Amino acid sequence: MDEGECERVTSDVYAYHDGALREPEQSRVRDHLTACPSCRSVFEIERAMRAAIRRAYSREVAPDSLRARVVAMLDGCEAA
Ligand SMILES: [Zn+2]
Repeated sequence: MDEGECERVTSDVYAYHDGALREPEQSRVRDHLTACPSCRSVFEIERAMRAAIRRAYSREVAPDSLRARVVAMLDGCEAA
């Protein structure tokens, strides 16, 4: 597997989740995730984290301190 391609895909995974990618990038990321287990695990972790955060928000159970930490963590990911 081309390592440069993996780097590009992992940096695009966040935009892919946001639906912010256009063709042909979206297809490129999707095809790569199908073919590459290591990038797929990055994608799965990101998806699981987003689902957990959505649940926390929707139940309004997250204390403000936790919420602030999660938001800071997300900001860090998107900047990376
Ligand atoms: Zn890859």
